[in-house]
Amino acid sequence: MRKSVIAGNWKMYKLLGEAIETAVSLKPLVANATHCEVIIAPVFTALKTVCDRLEGSIIKVAAQDCSIEQKHGAHTGEIAADMIKDVGCSHIIVGHSERRQFYGETDETVNLKTKACLEVGLTAIVCIGEKLAEREAGEAEDIVKTQLLGALDSLTVTDMERIIIAYEPVWAIGTGQTATPEQAQEMHAFIRKTLAETQGKEIAEATRIVYGGSVKPDNIKGLMNNADIDGALVGGASLEAESFAKIVNYK
Ligand code: PEP
Repeated sequence: MRKSVIAGNWKMYKLLGEAIETAVSLKPLVANATHCEVIIAPVFTALKTVCDRLEGSIIKVAAQDCSIEQKHGAHTGEIAADMIKDVGCSHIIVGHSERRQFYGETDETVNLKTKACLEVGLTAIVCIGEKLAEREAGEAEDIVKTQLLGALDSLTVTDMERIIIAYEPVWAIGTGQTATPEQAQEMHAFIRKTLAETQGKEIAEATRIVYGGSVKPDNIKGLMNNADIDGALVGGASLEAESFAKIVNYK
């Protein structure tokens, strides 16, 4: 039985005070959400304080990225996975489409970052997803498969226990255009089938695959009703505590 995951990606929003305020407001609103794992991903500058303020709550904290370097050292401007762990985070989002599109991330760097995250004992939320032109050209599955296999290259069976896949079609991110539950389920089933072929059936059945792309309080239930959709990675609608809590408490 896979436990659902609802994660909020705050992107490059919220000054420290705003991040604290949202995190603290969220705490009581999701306190009874035992049906899923609740994760928020503030900017780096807010991670430590938000982790401290959420101590004792069910909310876990993720970073939005990490360095390909596993350990801290002479890499100006970078933040290593061991530093993210050090401030209290449990997860790292890797390979978000904004990083792939605007910061030159490749399947290879996503793989290295995933390994860096796993190396220090954290869980990686690995984002994959096709662009609109790729979907229209009938290439969505090929693109998603390439990204998936690239990100997971040479991971062990044990590593896979700390992998969450986020299927985020690029055309649905921040556009208000959600994939229909049928489109999302179809791709999630394809991802699970690919995992079964490459990692084995047991791992495929155990791996959480969450959907991201304009998830809102009014469409979460329709998405979650599908067998292969194990949760959501939420951008815009996670910025307000009330709206994110409605998504978490979708049942
Ligand atoms: C995201 O940034 O991962 C995302 C899914 O954004 P939004 O929910 O705003 O589409």
